[in-house]
Amino acid sequence: MNEFKIENISEEQYNHYFQKWLYQYGGASDYVSLKHYIENYNNDVEGDVDIYSTSLCPCIICIKESQDE
Ligand SMILES: [Zn+2]
Repeated sequence: MNEFKIENISEEQYNHYFQKWLYQYGGASDYVSLKHYIENYNNDVEGDVDIYSTSLCPCIICIKESQDE
């Protein structure tokens, strides 16, 4: 997947991006839009969006996942 298209991500991935973005920017879309955030997301730096782990990501989904175990 060389050309990233926001339309091609799954709903699950979209929700995870959204929570990550919310955590980092507090929903301040005038600062960094969610679309811009997803398009510029760096898996190597910020963690694979398909992995739910609090060691990679501090968002609410990952926290919930870790609490369920
Ligand atoms: Zn997360």
